[in-house]
Amino acid sequence: MTSTVRVHATLSDSRANGPGERFVVWFQGCSLACPGCFNPETHGPDAEELSVAELAGRVLARADRWEGITLTGGEPLQQPEAVAELCRRIREGSRLGVLILTGYTRGEIEADPARLAAVADADLVIAGRYNAGLRLGTGLRGSSNKTYWWLTDRYREADLAAVPEAEVRIGADGTLIFTGMEAA
Ligand code: SF4
Repeated sequence: MTSTVRVHATLSDSRANGPGERFVVWFQGCSLACPGCFNPETHGPDAEELSVAELAGRVLARADRWEGITLTGGEPLQQPEAVAELCRRIREGSRLGVLILTGYTRGEIEADPARLAAVADADLVIAGRYNAGLRLGTGLRGSSNKTYWWLTDRYREADLAAVPEAEVRIGADGTLIFTGMEAA
């Protein structure tokens, strides 16, 4: 059985959303309401629904060109079944690393079976609410209260320190796309 996923945007060949070149998925929908959130356009629930199998297939068809996939938002773990299925398909079909950025704390994830299942195939989860008063913008942590949860030894803190703080991309229609922690 495959599920559907509400996606705000995707980006290929990103260098500012995790180690190496990555495929990035911004999930649509977040009710956590962190003051000063840098991505308010991802909060609403409305978005086109994609088949998770189709999204995974799109990634797997070009998996050789990336180091990994990054799931961010919006809030990926408010669509836990979709995250679990996507990560499982990526894990089974490739050697891509899996990085999840979430507003939930590690304790909140561990206390919820669906959220815990969603991160089971991740290598690293960066967890916790964004706190504008503790803004950091480096090491893929928007604020210093956010924690690293290393689920495998694939990534180390030095890999994250080497990630550029921002990147500017030009879309096919000429639109400028600004991503990364300094875009926050
Ligand atoms: S969890 Fe992320 S997307 Fe949601 S409000 Fe907080 S910073 Fe914004």
